[in-house]
Amino acid sequence: MSVRPIYLDCQATTPMDKRVLDAMLPYFTEHFGNPASITHVYGWEAEAAVKRSREILAAAINCAPEEIIFTSGATEANNLAIKGVAEAYFSKGQHIITLQTEHNAVLDPCHYLENLGFEVTFLPVREDGLIDLEALEKAIRPDTILVSIMAANNEIGVLQPLAKIGEICRQHEILFHSDAAQAIGKIPLDVQQTNIDLMSLTAHKIYGPKGIGALYVRRRNPRVKIAAQIHGGGHERGMRSGTLYTPQIVGFAKAVELGLAELASESQRLQQLREQLWQQLSQVEGIHLNGHPTQRLPGNLNISVEGVDGSALLIALQPVVALSSGSACSSTSTAPSHVLTALGRSESLAYASLRFGIGRFTTTQEIDIVAQHAIATIQSLRKATARV
Ligand SMILES: *Cc1c(COP(=O)(O)O)cnc(C)c1O
Repeated sequence: MSVRPIYLDCQATTPMDKRVLDAMLPYFTEHFGNPASITHVYGWEAEAAVKRSREILAAAINCAPEEIIFTSGATEANNLAIKGVAEAYFSKGQHIITLQTEHNAVLDPCHYLENLGFEVTFLPVREDGLIDLEALEKAIRPDTILVSIMAANNEIGVLQPLAKIGEICRQHEILFHSDAAQAIGKIPLDVQQTNIDLMSLTAHKIYGPKGIGALYVRRRNPRVKIAAQIHGGGHERGMRSGTLYTPQIVGFAKAVELGLAELASESQRLQQLREQLWQQLSQVEGIHLNGHPTQRLPGNLNISVEGVDGSALLIALQPVVALSSGSACSSTSTAPSHVLTALGRSESLAYASLRFGIGRFTTTQEIDIVAQHAIATIQSLRKATARV
């Protein structure tokens, strides 16, 4: 087998942990039943596994098991939360507040609702990527029904102050949704402490399988209503029909369980690796850190590089390290990252950016190789430009 590049794109997706796969395997073959089959043991086994998984996920964010609605991932959870609330609270108001730096799975449902006549405020962020809480307060109107602010950004890793946002929303009796796709299993989350009413989750950013996620929907204080977006057999309390995908659900719960069990030691290790990388890169002139230096995911580093062409840089790095500039989900578009431009980065600095996503299987040796190669590449590209 040829040598493959070092994988540093853990904000795009992660390899599945072998322990997660082992937990899933019996549910493909031996325990293959439909959890909705109530007349025989095949159904009961699957139902028991789903129940256990739901309990693990609920404990992970401090909610009740019935408040977990399984979806195909965070994209679907975001769509269900935003469109579902918009439809259910239509008569109360038609104004939504979100951030310019949200994932497209939040921004695009908001744009869709704008076309239907809803009004959406896309709040700018501070230079460090964090929300301006005063701007949030000012944006709130009597007809605001929902605030949607992510927990951790997928490009620059910044962690938004969920508790403060939740407090503001609660004071104004506005529902608070948070896209926590990058946060679950990596930082502590508590929907009670932070007054979150709806929260989107996914498994594949934390060493679980792709194609499974969940939406937390608060059942009391207040009881949140959402309009279903997929209709059918009435699964998931009518909010999301479709046969539950038992193996994926088991894997999702296992991934979250492992993430939380190892959270303290692993965050420390990832932070050290990130420091190691930044210490080397920051020796080079004209390299800028994007996003708040410490209020961010432990494994995320995002930089902009002066004096190089962004795509030339990525192409030159490709044989040694697999990473991206910004979001994988919008990497087919040629526009510069909407997150970096929202921070006030120039178009050329937004283009010439690198997102390092360090993960569970990254080693210190790999970080050194990547740092040295990135520095050499940047210097040689700069020399080549200077010669022209
Ligand atoms: C990955 C990601 C999503 C999309 O999640 P899927 O499960 O892949 O649909 C949404 N929001 C954020 C912040 C993400 O990082």
